Amino acid sequence: MPANLQIVLDNRPTGEASEANFRIAQTETPPLKDGHVLVRHHYLSLDPYMRGRMSESKSYAVPQPLGQVMQGGTVGEVVESRHPGYTPGDKVVGFGGWQHFSVADASQPGSLRKVDTTHVPLSHYLGAVGMPGVTAWYGLVKIIEPKAGNTLVVTAASGAVGSAFGALAKARGCRVVGVAGGEDKCRYVTEELGFDACIDYRTHPDASSIGKALDAACPDGIDGHFENVGGYIFDAVLDRMNAFGRIALCGLISGYDGQPIPLANPRALLVSRLRIEGFIVSEHMEVWPEALRELGGLVGSGKLRPRESVAQGLEAAPAAFIGLLKGRNFGKQLVKVI
Ligand code: NDP
Repeated sequence: MPANLQIVLDNRPTGEASEANFRIAQTETPPLKDGHVLVRHHYLSLDPYMRGRMSESKSYAVPQPLGQVMQGGTVGEVVESRHPGYTPGDKVVGFGGWQHFSVADASQPGSLRKVDTTHVPLSHYLGAVGMPGVTAWYGLVKIIEPKAGNTLVVTAASGAVGSAFGALAKARGCRVVGVAGGEDKCRYVTEELGFDACIDYRTHPDASSIGKALDAACPDGIDGHFENVGGYIFDAVLDRMNAFGRIALCGLISGYDGQPIPLANPRALLVSRLRIEGFIVSEHMEVWPEALRELGGLVGSGKLRPRESVAQGLEAAPAAFIGLLKGRNFGKQLVKVI
């Protein structure tokens, strides 16, 4: 069996996560048992949720164990199979982790899924046509429940989730306003993703300043909001929500290193009779087939053109991951493993 390069969690962060929390390890892939499949990874997905699992604080998922290979989504190719449903060469998406190879028990439902790369490139199954895309779909369709003509706002708009959110919301006839960090990201959001407007929060360092930009971009107020970041931008959005507005609370990345994320004006929730709901996409597997069908169609038809930041080589994963937590990625953050 081939030698396998891995990245393991060596120690837990205190405060900001850093490259020193990880270390490289070398193992052999184990011999295959009946029903198992050996997969060579092409791409590894880096996702903000991994930061939460590096810590031991209370969360919806158990912490990543120390000394073990970092968990994470992967796409790759079957190189050996002892399962009748898989043959070498099949392209698959799974949860293979930060390593060159993984062995999946393909007899377990949901452990491995074959994908068709005719119209959708393999890497997009980790982004727009994968978990981040379904996340956008769930928050939009099941929580925000938009009507044509509604004004919707999304933070981290140029990212994996935000970009899919924009395409899905435009397909439903909504006015979509993004918030992103920097001129380049905002230009991409409006010109390539087709958002109606994008606010560069870096030029608006406080709630009052970004509030004025939101007023200009959302003259009829905000009917639905998809929150990825938290902080003063969220405060400014809350103040501008229309009565009975809906908020999908997807992520709070500005606090993932343990920073407090105060809410300046919870009064807005009451006076505007808002509905706010947090969710975890992996707890809603029932929507994945429908969501993936729509997302695949949007990518296949060119209506959603996802952007990717690709780090080269498994050894580059820790630095790329830290960069993702600081907004250095532009679009879906991947690692090209081979
Ligand atoms: P992105 O591709 O959007 O990358 C993260 C982006 O967040 C960065 O590019 C940056 O964009 C922004 N960001 C990073 N750090 C900060 C910070 N300190 N303050 C402000 N903005 C920051 O990631 P994803 O699309 O994969 O994820 C987006 C959000 O969705 C995350 O919060 C994630 O945890 C959440 N999520 C939740 C899921 C669920 O089931 N609830 C599932 C998947 C994702 P910019 O430069 O524009 O600020």
